[in-house]
Amino acid sequence: MKRKFFGTNGIRGEIGEFFTPVFVSKMSSAIATFMKNKGTMVVGSDSRTSSPAVKYGAISSILSTGIEVIDLGTVPTPLLQFAVTYLKVDFGIMVTASHNPPHFNGIKVVDSDGIEIDIHKQKSIEEIYEREKFDYVSWEGNKYVTKIDLTKEYIDQITSFVNVEKIQKRRLTCVVDGGNAVGALTTPLVLKNLGIRVLSINSNLDGHFPGRGVEPIPEKLTLMGETVMQTKADFSIAHDGDADRAIFGDEKGIVHYGDKSIALFQKWLLQDEQNKKFVTPVSSSRIIEDISEEMGGEIVWTPVGCIYVSRTMKEKDSLLGGEENGGIFYAPHQCVRDGSMAAALMADILAQTNKTFSKLVENLPQYYQKKDRIDCPNKLKERVMEYVKNNVQKASEILTIDGVKLIYPDSWILIRPSGTEPIFRIFVEAKTNDKAEKMLDDGLGMVKEALKNT
Ligand code: MG
Repeated sequence: MKRKFFGTNGIRGEIGEFFTPVFVSKMSSAIATFMKNKGTMVVGSDSRTSSPAVKYGAISSILSTGIEVIDLGTVPTPLLQFAVTYLKVDFGIMVTASHNPPHFNGIKVVDSDGIEIDIHKQKSIEEIYEREKFDYVSWEGNKYVTKIDLTKEYIDQITSFVNVEKIQKRRLTCVVDGGNAVGALTTPLVLKNLGIRVLSINSNLDGHFPGRGVEPIPEKLTLMGETVMQTKADFSIAHDGDADRAIFGDEKGIVHYGDKSIALFQKWLLQDEQNKKFVTPVSSSRIIEDISEEMGGEIVWTPVGCIYVSRTMKEKDSLLGGEENGGIFYAPHQCVRDGSMAAALMADILAQTNKTFSKLVENLPQYYQKKDRIDCPNKLKERVMEYVKNNVQKASEILTIDGVKLIYPDSWILIRPSGTEPIFRIFVEAKTNDKAEKMLDDGLGMVKEALKNT
């Protein structure tokens, strides 16, 4: 379903360009009009310099439509999602642009179940926005704002899902890189609650994100790795701008990609469970499939995007989901990705297994990944995918959940159309580097051939 403003994770834009006070006011009015007759909304924001302006702009419109607002202050997105269900309110708005650069901002709209609204609701809100018919109420109907701090309740709930006694006995040390963002407000407290010695870096909130930037990619997390070495820490954790994602490092200072850590969660949290369903996007590593086969589990594939993972988890009654960008979804807590919950669960795994982090990673299957992109006019994308699907040879399985994924005995190729650019993204994974290179050429070749023949 084509949408004009909503993307994979809410609405994002550059401040002053697309994301102006007028836009925020109109869009918030549209959201509030959409939830007509629904009483209360929670609102929170990340640590960006523009976040107060955007948040108060949104609150002004919401109050004008007769909806009561609970202001949670500066918080991680998962804390706001927790607040929606904990306080049993009807909707939530999180002001954040997650991992985007400092001059961006955005809003995530959260439904009454704590998960971001589905694309049908996004579409309805956009229609209200375009019509500009907003349900503003009279002076008598204007509502008020209450401020609530739910940090303690949120941390207590996270703590209740792990074995505190065992973690305390392991006497762990952890380096937390908050990235000058809201993860610094909760993860160190969660870990301290579990008896872990915490060393925080980039923990001062600063909307310029001067420390290591706002996106926690392993290449940028060198200070975190060095601090682990200097302090002999057992593991490390870094969050993105709204702390829904978590990237982990080991006791040797090596920072791992999210596909490794989600595999650890899958293995150690599901192996003793009856329900071994793991929900993950089609772009996830083959490691996940190997682990699932090994323990007799089941993979439930989704399109790329955390909303799909969350909603599929609910539908399939799954305990766990994961994304290779470091998103971990733990249903007993909430079916959304949550960086602080991930931190507590990793401490639990280290305590339960009594192994070092590097040893846990070493025991995972090894694969090589490659990716590239190739131009393709938007109007030809459907036909190219159809051609690839019909002309592929020797694939043991073809998934068409999001693009075309061709699965072979120990490798795969994913040809996925970009939602915003006239390109295909090609992802491959194989057992050796040479094979991965070859598969990438094969994937590019398939699209080129399809373009010639369509
Ligand atoms: Mg995020």
